[in-house]
Amino acid sequence: MIIPCPYCGPRDTSEFFFRGEARPQRPQYEDGSDAFVDHVYERVNNAGAQVEHWYHAAGCRTWLLVKRDTRTHAFLSVTLASEQKR
Ligand SMILES: [Zn+2]
Repeated sequence: MIIPCPYCGPRDTSEFFFRGEARPQRPQYEDGSDAFVDHVYERVNNAGAQVEHWYHAAGCRTWLLVKRDTRTHAFLSVTLASEQKR
């Protein structure tokens, strides 16, 4: 599989580190908070388009937001994680 890195161009996935699903903002920590525990341990694992964090470890060392179809592994879009709205 090839990921089109915005800085380096098309690169093999072996150059990247997969962190997992890019989740919405982390909820505030409170003891026993179900929302916080769910954020840390639960995964959505969509069948279809999913936004994920990938790190280009063997390239530009940049975190990317990659939209990938989990059924076909097609990469639908790639943007810099630093441009993610908070
Ligand atoms: Zn890169």
